[in-house]
Amino acid sequence: MSGADGVDAEAPASRPDPGEWGEVSIGAGERRAVSITVSESYSGATIRTPVYVWRGMADGPTVFVSAAVHGDEINGTGAIRELITGEPFELIRGTLLMLPVVNMLGFERHSRYMPDRRDLNRCFPGTEHGSLSSRLARAFFDQVVRRCDYGIDLHTAAVRRTNFPNVRADMDDASVAEWARAFGAEILVAGKGPRGSLRRSACKAGVPTFILEAGEVWRVEPAVVEYAVEGVRSCLAHLGMIAGESRRPAYRVEMDTTRWVRAMHGGFLQFHTSPGELVEKGQPIATSASLTGQEHDVIVAPRDGIVLGMTTMPSVAPGDPVCHLAFPKRGVLRRVGEVVEAMADDSLHERLKEDLSRGILVSEPNGESEG
Ligand SMILES: [Zn+2]
Repeated sequence: MSGADGVDAEAPASRPDPGEWGEVSIGAGERRAVSITVSESYSGATIRTPVYVWRGMADGPTVFVSAAVHGDEINGTGAIRELITGEPFELIRGTLLMLPVVNMLGFERHSRYMPDRRDLNRCFPGTEHGSLSSRLARAFFDQVVRRCDYGIDLHTAAVRRTNFPNVRADMDDASVAEWARAFGAEILVAGKGPRGSLRRSACKAGVPTFILEAGEVWRVEPAVVEYAVEGVRSCLAHLGMIAGESRRPAYRVEMDTTRWVRAMHGGFLQFHTSPGELVEKGQPIATSASLTGQEHDVIVAPRDGIVLGMTTMPSVAPGDPVCHLAFPKRGVLRRVGEVVEAMADDSLHERLKEDLSRGILVSEPNGESEG
């Protein structure tokens, strides 16, 4: 059967038991690392990826938390390692499946892509007889996603960019929207996600799944890890899998309109804002100048918005992305501004803003033009 998302994976005869992993049986209250076979290398070696299986004493939902579907996006890998090895917590019910690296072949090469140059996150749910990427997607989908009731997939911005943490989910689907809100993120971007993405395919297969986009590639950023761990725990609390309440963000904006502001000229950027900041229409975002400082132009916000992401690369050519803005409804931003103003400097929200702007030289716009 072929649908809008390409080849549909057929419904399985029965859902695999979350405690049965080949030769290994994991009982109630146990936690154990296993691995699943996802492919073979060019030298014929079996490619396996680790799954940390954690079972509560009582029956309950099965949730997967995955990272590095893009092999260079390892903030989520750091967050999952923290969930496994950090401050212990009791899993009351259900099963938690944690996959620090989905795209093991990309991860081994510090690369976003698979060795066949495909983007794994456009190949789900995959097919048994398809490309290398499609087969790996299918192996993951069958062995992990199909066991689950819910999923969380952890991403970062693409190379040379960084993102203020934001959750992306199909907010038109009530069960996905409820699950995504349980993470407790301040910023939610609505949308189904690209065709072939893990989250879109999982949702289509009846497993509500959203993504977190936070930080940048090739790094494990402490504030991002803290944010991701809090969010996952908030989701588990929402399902009654761990004790406590789910996280209530200081503000919440949900929107479906975002836009990249791009450079008009080649040059070197000086930034005037950073991820997570609010900007007003006409406010300078960055100044593009020659290498010796003569200004070319001041890049301004086209509308009132929130800075979702930025380039971390100060040298740009015409058309290069500078700043990713999200546009909440009118009136919302003013209220958000008041809430943010009242936040303590050591709040996670403010520490994130500080951490994420560390790799960007931010300065006041210069009133005087030398050009
Ligand atoms: Zn990604």
